[in-house]
Amino acid sequence: RELVGTTPAPEERAMETALRPKSLDDFVGQQTVRRQLSLVLESSKLRERAADHMLLSGPPGLGKTTLAMIIAAEMSAPLRLTSGPAIQHAGDLAAILSSLAEGEVLFIDEIHRMSRPAEEMLYMAMEDFRVDIVVGKGAGATSIPLELPEFTLVGATTRAGLLPGPLRDRFGFTGHLEFYAPEELERVLRRSAQLLEMRVTDAGFEEIASRSRGTPRITNRLLRRVRDWALVHGVAEIDRRAAGAALDTYEVDPRGLDRLDRAVLQALCTTFRGGPVGLSTLAVIVGEETETVETVAEPYLVREGLLARTPRGRIATDAAFAHLGLPRPETQEG
Ligand code: ATP
Repeated sequence: RELVGTTPAPEERAMETALRPKSLDDFVGQQTVRRQLSLVLESSKLRERAADHMLLSGPPGLGKTTLAMIIAAEMSAPLRLTSGPAIQHAGDLAAILSSLAEGEVLFIDEIHRMSRPAEEMLYMAMEDFRVDIVVGKGAGATSIPLELPEFTLVGATTRAGLLPGPLRDRFGFTGHLEFYAPEELERVLRRSAQLLEMRVTDAGFEEIASRSRGTPRITNRLLRRVRDWALVHGVAEIDRRAAGAALDTYEVDPRGLDRLDRAVLQALCTTFRGGPVGLSTLAVIVGEETETVETVAEPYLVREGLLARTPRGRIATDAAFAHLGLPRPETQEG
C-alpha cells in the first residue's frame, strides 16, 4: 500500500502541506459538512466563545486534518495536533490539556484509539473544562482538580460507530466525510497541477481523477507520480494516454482500487466463491486487521458496487467478478 497507502513519506508530507487548502472556500466538495461547519463557526464567532466540539468521521485521506486546520484558521485560534495512539496514559492527555491556550483547537486523529483512562479524563474536560489529576498511588493517592481554558476538540475517526457512546455524545456536531466525485477530484487536481506547474489536458485530469479512489490525498499523490513519469519520458503536456500509461506503470487500477481493495475482492470471489463470509474471516485471509478492512477497504468497495454487506456476511457482486475477470461460481448464494 506504499503508493496509495495512508502514511505519506516525509518528502510527500511536505508537498501535501503545500497543497492543503487554507480556507473553507478553497476546500473542494463535502458541501453538507462545509455548510454545517460554517454555521457552527459563524455562531461561535458571534457568541465570542470557543466553538462546540466536533467529530469528523470518514475513510482516510478525505480531508479531516485539513478541516481541523481550516477550523483553527477560521477561528484565528492556535491548533494542537495529536493522535489517539499517542495518548496511552491519562497523564499524556493531562499534559496536553493543561498547556492549551484559551480558545485553542485540539485535533485528535484516530480518537477511537485512545486508551480507556485517557478517554474518561477527556469526558470531563470536554464537558466542564476541568480535569482531576491523580497524584500518588494506592491509599495515599489524591486527586487535584485543574481548571482548563475553553477549547474546541476536533476528533477524527474512520468510523463514528467505533467510539464509545459517552464520548460520541459529547460532541456538539458530527460531520461525515464522503468519497469525492470525479469532478470534485478534478478540481483538486487542477489546483495542485497549477501549484506544481504541470500542463495537463482535460482528459488527462479526468483519467487521473477516475483512478483516485474518490480520495484527494490519493489524487495528489497520483499527480506527482504522473509528473515523475512525464519528466523522465520528456512529455511536456499530459493527456489521457500519457496519464493512463504513467498510472499503469504504477499498477494503479483503472477503477482506483488499491492492493488491499483487490486482495479483499480476490479473497471474496475465489476463496469464498462470492460469499457470504464474515468480516473477521475475510480480514484473516487478507492478513489485515478487521477494523482496517471495515473502515478503509469496504466503504469504497461498497460505493463502487463491488461488495455488499448482508446480515449473513459480505458478498461479492456480479460487478466484482467482472472486474477481476473471473467467472461467477454456479453454487454461489446470496
Ligand atoms: P487522515 O485521517 O488519514 O489523516 P485526512 O482525512 O485527515 O486523512 P488530510 O490529511 O486532511 O486527510 O488530506 C490529505 C490531503 O488531501 C491534503 O494534503 C490535502 O491537500 C488534500 N485534500 C483533502 N481534502 C481536500 C479538499 N476538500 N480539497 C482540496 N484538497 C484536499
